Amino acid sequence: MTAPPRRFVISAGIVVLLGTLWYLLWVATGGSHMGPVAIGYLFMPVAMGIGGLAVRALRRAVPLAPAGRRFWLLLEACCYLFSSGFTLLAVDAFRFGPELPDMPPAGAVLIGSGVLLAMWGVIQVPVGVTTWYERGKQWLDRMIALLGCSTVLWHFGISPMVLAPEPWTTSALSVLLLACAFAAGSITKVSYIAGGPVDRRAMRLVATTGLAAAAVALLSVLGGYDGILPGQTVCMPVCGLLIALGARRQQAATDAPKRSGNIWLPYLAVLAVDVPVADVLFRSEHWGPGRWEGRLVVLAAVVVTALVALRQFVVFRENMRLLRERKASEARLRHEATHDPLTGLANRALFKERLETALGEGEATVLLVDLDDFKTVNDSLGHDVGDALLVAFAGALCDAAGEDGEVARLAGDEFAVLTGTPEAGECVAERIMAATALPISTHRLLVHVSAGLASALPGTVPSQLLRDADAAMHAAKQRGKANWVRYASGMEQPAQAHARLGGDLRRALDAGEFRVVYQPIVGLADGRVLGAEALVRWAHPERGLVSPADFIPAAERTGLIVPLGRYVLRETCRQAAEWLAEFGPDAFSKVAPNVSVRQLHDPDFVADVRAALADTGLPPERLVLELTESAVLRGQQVLRVLHELHDMGVRLALDDFGTGESSLSLLRSFPAAIVKLDKSFVDGIEIDEPGTPAADARQAVARAVVQLADALGLDTVAEGIENQEQVDRLLRLGYTVGQGYHLGRPGSAADLTARLAAQRAPAAAA
Ligand code: C2E
Ligand code: MG
Ligand code: MG
Repeated sequence: MTAPPRRFVISAGIVVLLGTLWYLLWVATGGSHMGPVAIGYLFMPVAMGIGGLAVRALRRAVPLAPAGRRFWLLLEACCYLFSSGFTLLAVDAFRFGPELPDMPPAGAVLIGSGVLLAMWGVIQVPVGVTTWYERGKQWLDRMIALLGCSTVLWHFGISPMVLAPEPWTTSALSVLLLACAFAAGSITKVSYIAGGPVDRRAMRLVATTGLAAAAVALLSVLGGYDGILPGQTVCMPVCGLLIALGARRQQAATDAPKRSGNIWLPYLAVLAVDVPVADVLFRSEHWGPGRWEGRLVVLAAVVVTALVALRQFVVFRENMRLLRERKASEARLRHEATHDPLTGLANRALFKERLETALGEGEATVLLVDLDDFKTVNDSLGHDVGDALLVAFAGALCDAAGEDGEVARLAGDEFAVLTGTPEAGECVAERIMAATALPISTHRLLVHVSAGLASALPGTVPSQLLRDADAAMHAAKQRGKANWVRYASGMEQPAQAHARLGGDLRRALDAGEFRVVYQPIVGLADGRVLGAEALVRWAHPERGLVSPADFIPAAERTGLIVPLGRYVLRETCRQAAEWLAEFGPDAFSKVAPNVSVRQLHDPDFVADVRAALADTGLPPERLVLELTESAVLRGQQVLRVLHELHDMGVRLALDDFGTGESSLSLLRSFPAAIVKLDKSFVDGIEIDEPGTPAADARQAVARAVVQLADALGLDTVAEGIENQEQVDRLLRLGYTVGQGYHLGRPGSAADLTARLAAQRAPAAAA
């Protein structure tokens, strides 16, 4: 590794110091005792040589990007050319004695080439602008700045030299001209470097050498030949120091933050060009026929002004474009904030806004539309199909609303249509029902919708109207879905009661108000108790024992069924283990709590069952879980849970069999052990009136179920048996096990214990 450029900075600094000192002493002593004046010409070649070495050390010490390496290489060459050129000048100075020498032509060529190389290097430095448009714009700015800068240099520096009574030699003039061009060019360039392979601050130091050249020009103009010596001893050596400092800066360069070019520079250039113009105006010797240099200044000012006008035009067009883009993006943002991204319909916020406006102007009618069982589509067919269905339905809804209504998507599968009069709303509702009578979406799905319609007079609060429509929609769902209902007062009460019930349930669960009762499952031939179904009751402090039909739906909706079901399961297992210990394995075979679909979706369900069995010591085969068909039909995840339970040894019963979408494939895919024939097929089964279609159908179903179960090796239980005739008929049909008020009503654990004890006594006596 080469010595760091720091050493060169110090050396160059010393040369500048010595040069300055020598010049001061030379002036102080009036030129005597300072040796020949040629000594003053030595500082410049030495300083430039050191500058070149500093750049060389930098190139060796630091890995530079290709563009950076090229720049520094050219600058190094420039330093050596300068050093050689000024050495020739120094040699002439020594040769010709006290007379100050003219720049020898060879020296001028060397120095001129050096300046050209440096200019080329500066031009090549990338400014970090990528697009053609930006580049063009920047060129315009740079032209303005360059022209402004050059005009000032020309008017106050070069033109007086050219017009001096004793004109300068061509070689000296060319060198100075080039140096000034370099100064103007590099200063403009450096103002636009945004960061890149050449460090901005290093570049700034290098560009400052141009100012040194300008200073030499100024000194020469002001001092004539007297100004040349300080230029050689002080100003020019400073160039070597600046280059050494630049190299050092580049070596320490870190990734400087990017910044945009100087936007004020063109305006500064206009101001700068005004100074020579004013000078020309007020000093008539520059103006007048034949004074071309004055005209040149005015011409430059005209060109600068034209370029600035052009720049303003470009900026104006750009501003217009930005304004257009901003307006477009504002419109896009507003659209995004007020529309649903999936269907493109208005969202809830926009719908409310429109409703508010509508109610401010007159009567308004809202139709709330909800897809029935949309969750099942999502669960069973996937979200992509669900999304496609929503989009297709949105389209159908817009067609149905037509000119009469504005459609919005309020949430998941909930849509709304805003119309004027109730009659218009009813027409739209009818058209929606007609549209959903046919399959929609590319997946040809048949969807049903429930809709609630509510109207309000001007001045009504929008949220009130929405609440009414919501109550009507829930009433429609209650009435069996796939229809629409107009709001009538009092309709919101069930919904409110449901909401109250949810809160009540939570409190009851915490207060331990739930009990489990047991209904015996009995052998039909001998009346022996074989097992029991566990049914939950709510011992309400005011309402007494509440039936599950009144709170299970609310518990399912609120998710409270999960902790409630967990409690029933544990309590049942505990009680069954107690019976098992008391009456032995033969006396009592199984207990059967009910499980709802929400529980099957609970990720902890299998673990809960396993823990309940382990903690109570009940063998798994003595536990039956009763599930409804609709619960079992809820997709792969549920099926996996059921197989896990089956593998654990727990038995599964299909409850209310025959009421749902019973299918043979269901019995095959689902690991059921027991089928419970629904009460609706037992009701009236004993009535024997051949030809009565209802009785015939019931018997046919009951017979088919038992035969199917036998064929598949499943046990059967007939539910809801209310008299002995039903028992007899079921026995004849092939049933052996049943459950019903006739065989035993649901009762406390103690009731069943008494019955089991009674059952054991005759057996023991026998
Ligand atoms: P389910 O599972 O079909 O239970 C049988 C229902 O029929 C019970 O009503 C029972 O009292 C009634 N029942 C039994 N024999 C007769 C009869 O001969 N005649 C008449 N009319 N009814 C009879 P319950 O206890 O009101 O339960 C209703 C439903 O609530 C149950 O139907 C079950 O689906 C659900 N359920 C009860 N307890 C729970 C529970 O702990 N968890 C869950 N998820 N659901 C439960
Ligand atoms: Mg049941
Ligand atoms: Mg049942």
